[in-house]
Amino acid sequence: MGGTVTTPQFAGEAQAVTDGFNLVIDALKLNGLDTIFGVPGIPITDLARKAQAAGMRVISFRHEQSAAYAASIAGFMTGKPGICLTVSAPGFLNGLTALANATTNCFPMILISGSSEREIVDLQQGDYEEMDQLAIAKSFAKAAFRVLHAEDIGVGVARAIRAAVSGRPGGVYLDLPGKLFPQTIDAEIGKNSLIKVVDPAPRQIPAPDAVQRALALLREAKRPLIILGKGAAYAQADADIRALVERTGIPYLPMSMAKGLLPDTHPQCASAARSFVLPEADVVMLVGARLNWLLSHGKGKTWGGKDARAWGGQKFVQIDISSQEADSNVRIDAPVVGDIGSCVAALLAGIDATWPKPQAGWLAAVAERKSKNIAKMAETLAKNPVPMNFHSALAVVRDIVKANPDACLVNEGANALDFTRSIVDMFKPRKRLDVGTWGVMGIGMGFSVAAAVVSGGQVIAIEGDSAFGFSGMEVETICRYDLPVCVVILNNSGVYRGDEKNPTGGRDPAPLAFVKDARYEKLMEAFGGVGVHATTPAELRSAMEEAIRSRRPTLVNAVIDATAGTESGRITSLNPAAKRQ
Ligand code: ADP
Repeated sequence: MGGTVTTPQFAGEAQAVTDGFNLVIDALKLNGLDTIFGVPGIPITDLARKAQAAGMRVISFRHEQSAAYAASIAGFMTGKPGICLTVSAPGFLNGLTALANATTNCFPMILISGSSEREIVDLQQGDYEEMDQLAIAKSFAKAAFRVLHAEDIGVGVARAIRAAVSGRPGGVYLDLPGKLFPQTIDAEIGKNSLIKVVDPAPRQIPAPDAVQRALALLREAKRPLIILGKGAAYAQADADIRALVERTGIPYLPMSMAKGLLPDTHPQCASAARSFVLPEADVVMLVGARLNWLLSHGKGKTWGGKDARAWGGQKFVQIDISSQEADSNVRIDAPVVGDIGSCVAALLAGIDATWPKPQAGWLAAVAERKSKNIAKMAETLAKNPVPMNFHSALAVVRDIVKANPDACLVNEGANALDFTRSIVDMFKPRKRLDVGTWGVMGIGMGFSVAAAVVSGGQVIAIEGDSAFGFSGMEVETICRYDLPVCVVILNNSGVYRGDEKNPTGGRDPAPLAFVKDARYEKLMEAFGGVGVHATTPAELRSAMEEAIRSRRPTLVNAVIDATAGTESGRITSLNPAAKRQ
């Protein structure tokens, strides 16, 4: 137990009691949740203190948004809900962006926020940080609960855990009013009210006829393709997914956070031939990937359709835990509903040594396109321009990641994201942690802290200078907890690029330009970490190697050409001006 208090009830009699603080801690610990990311303050300050005293890892951030991003990615990495703890109204709202992002990305997390007193909030009498948090959270979370009585804490935590990890995972909100924490109850009653959740994410076995339908479609395919999404990475069915790919011999494309599920250097990896395989494939099997904007909604020119609205003619198999995902964008000919582990195992049972390999012509065409593009990229990466650009800097990062395949790679930005994703190969599952479904900026330092805490290993964060700004103050958190995080800022002095001018000639800088020659590395030095100013690939390489050798918090300010970078990176087409007809 987190602790019990012995209070005299009557002269000569003592009774063991527990309280809301201890019951929350005990409920979390009972379910194997041993780490809290958060920002302490009223009314949860003592909860953070007591959690640490009870042996939990409490990671205190400078801003709730980073803490909540940290919890969400811990959820993705472990399959257990990441826990974020915040104060009421503003702290809660700061955490809400990450809670919504978690729900969008199918990451399991629980945002626990202290809140003001119900009676006062409901009568709108102006309490300290008054806000109806539960009502607000509902539209951003997969589920939201409030606990008013100490004896219900066990149920509240259990329901939050189940909601976060069962079915399609997501973000859950748990509202704990300040008055709950000091409530005392008999320790024995309290203990018995706690719930150790049995089988929180039950397997969902696919229907045999759905599996047969999918196998029949795949078997007929002439130009099959597998797309692995972050749901496949989350499912932790790595060996079976690899067996499915290898036994069928089908080329596969990993979505960004599925990179490394099989090594990107795998002969069947078709990443370097993406724009060729999508329109050319005749049957596509989606494994934990949605046909959302990241896959051009499964139609249009990317898929060989005549125009943006046209279907490309592909047939789709979709493996997903959500029964409602199929047909969300185009027709799904063979939905297989279930958890990925069970679905892939069921498919594998129908794929033996007699399974027909894809047509040789298809494999040869993919291989040819792939080697042409890889050769083109190698040529670009071999250049050593002055000043350094995205490619020459990322050629270094690519080598370092290859030499350190167990390191987690956190990545955000526009061009910094696009180029890193396509240049830096990943070799192990769940090591690439990035902006996800929304392409959100601000995950950088929160994800880095969580990745270091959860994995206990090295983290490399490749950051655009604009993206870094959203969470930069958390370098103090990185230093305070002495985490082996090496932040590399690809610094071109602006959003997208750094050479924009104010067209009026006025004194204000252009809206997308930052301070020139900014010394970001001094931020890390300010808190006792290592800062390096790197203007050449050689300087970048030695700084990263030293960071990894020493495991010290390091920030490398990698100065690149201010004219390097394109508007919005690879999603320029989403800018409304580009859509004008
Ligand atoms: P990506 O962005 O990599 O394409 P998405 O986030 O679009 O991936 O898709 C992930 C999908 O995986 C979601 O539709 C989600 O329902 C599904 N998913 C998540 N976990 C599991 C699981 N354990 N089993 C089956 N499907 C899952």
